[in-house]
Amino acid sequence: MEVVVDSDNVRYDVDFIESKYDYQFTEAEKIGDKILVTPKTSHLVIRTQRKVPRLGVMLVGWGGNNGSTLTAALIANKLGLSWPTKKGTQSANWFGSITQASTLHLGRNVNVALGKLLPTVNPDDIVVDGWDISGRNLAEAMERAMVFEPCLQEMLKPHMKKFKPRASIYSPDFIAANQLSRADNLIEGTKQMQVQQICRDIESFKAKEKLDKVIILWTANTERFCDVIPGVHDTASNLKRAIAGNHAEISPSTLFAYAAVSMGCPYINGSPQNTFVPGLIEFAEKKDVFIGGDDFKSGQTKIKSVIVDFLVSAGIKPVSIVSYNHLGNNDGKNLSSQAQFRSKEISKSNVVDDMVDSNDILYKPGEKPDHVVVIKYVPYVGDSKRAMDEYVSEIMMGGLNTLAIHNTCEDSLLATPIMLDLIILTELCTRIKMKKSNQSDQEFTGFHVVLSVLSYLIKAPLVPDGTPVVNALFRQRACIENIMRACVGLPPDNNMLLEYKLPFLMEETIQNEPPSKKLKYDDE
Ligand code: NAD
Repeated sequence: MEVVVDSDNVRYDVDFIESKYDYQFTEAEKIGDKILVTPKTSHLVIRTQRKVPRLGVMLVGWGGNNGSTLTAALIANKLGLSWPTKKGTQSANWFGSITQASTLHLGRNVNVALGKLLPTVNPDDIVVDGWDISGRNLAEAMERAMVFEPCLQEMLKPHMKKFKPRASIYSPDFIAANQLSRADNLIEGTKQMQVQQICRDIESFKAKEKLDKVIILWTANTERFCDVIPGVHDTASNLKRAIAGNHAEISPSTLFAYAAVSMGCPYINGSPQNTFVPGLIEFAEKKDVFIGGDDFKSGQTKIKSVIVDFLVSAGIKPVSIVSYNHLGNNDGKNLSSQAQFRSKEISKSNVVDDMVDSNDILYKPGEKPDHVVVIKYVPYVGDSKRAMDEYVSEIMMGGLNTLAIHNTCEDSLLATPIMLDLIILTELCTRIKMKKSNQSDQEFTGFHVVLSVLSYLIKAPLVPDGTPVVNALFRQRACIENIMRACVGLPPDNNMLLEYKLPFLMEETIQNEPPSKKLKYDDE
């Protein structure tokens, strides 16, 4: 179903949706014992290209649990597969995807899938390819992942076995030693040669499938953090020189990101490592190519970014947050190694900072709750991850409130819809351009290359220098929703619902008129 906005401020022409939009924000300053707040308005023109491209996605770590599950889910949904389970017939769906399975409110009892407000890529049309250090075909990879019911796997196998991951870059120094036995599908040669091979892979995929755009998504194993070395990682030109010099401290993920950016392909990092060293960010800025990361926000962290937001915004003070996880998939096996676990620990550790820092009634400057994260590898539980969290909070007059949460679910079935959203939203962002209303058409520009719009889907959001990091989940979702609304000239959903609270507005809204006539310019 297409959404059409009836407004003088929105124009639908053949190529673009163009919206005239007043972006309102406030600036605030503490002056002595006063806070001075200044409302500001920027008059913007927002253009969204209507033609949705033929989109290809290349997954690094294609043969892993997430890579094989995303591929299988795309096929199962496209074919509309159903399969028997103990509880009856189950059909393919995209539950857990905000673009496909969550809605936004348009007006009185009318909601629409978030991904339908603007033209976005249909998941059925996405073409997948990718790399893996393990050469098993995708049917074998799906079987190894043990995520789907056997019956569904049998239905998918004829489709999945046509896919075989391309050879990849393997550096035993960056992922856990316990991954060695998988590494049978490798690109040999120097780092420069490896980057060139990745570029050729992207080019051949694009040409073979006649694609307009390709997005690269890292869903391979978590690497250890690389040491960011001055003269190697700090600038785009030093990084280029260091790759040419085969420097040992450049990670496979940075090589992939470098190749993607040089081919003009957005690159998203679904794992916690520091792929985006300063030189890579500078390179992306120079080439004007989106990068986004780090680490999919799928389970425990997502809950944390809701619970802590709820507690702090309720005026309750979390003082201790302790999170245990155990899982038995290959991700868990890789994370059982200390250096790789450390990457995950870092990405999970800062997720409450913005909420804590926003409330100086509860917390003194610099004060933070105790926050501990533990991950253990327990092979028996496979992909069914257990996450146990304890939140201790101070309530009124020294009282304590303890919340204990036990969360069990298939890890990859949480991550896969997030991967889909990252792909769909990143692609959409490449078609959105903005300018001030008094600027010329030549001055339309896109979002900053560090795509912080994706923060909702990301555990440790990478943001442009000087930009506040937002971890609170509903603020992150509101960012996506309100930007999409702005593209079609709709104000943010303010939740005031005055039309139900003020008698004179109520009378107006119940008149039997087209919606545009009812609420537009009621004060005239
Ligand atoms: P997995 O171990 O099943 O899959 C990773 C795949 O990457 C494997 O097939 C492995 O062979 C491959 N690989 C390793 N190094 C590679 C390289 N250099 N090039 C190409 N392939 C390589 O793990 P998974 O469960 O699919 O998770 C993938 C990543 O996503 C992990 O880093 C994990 O921490 C991250 N992540 C997962 C979730 C989730 O599943 N809920 C959430 C957040 C982040």
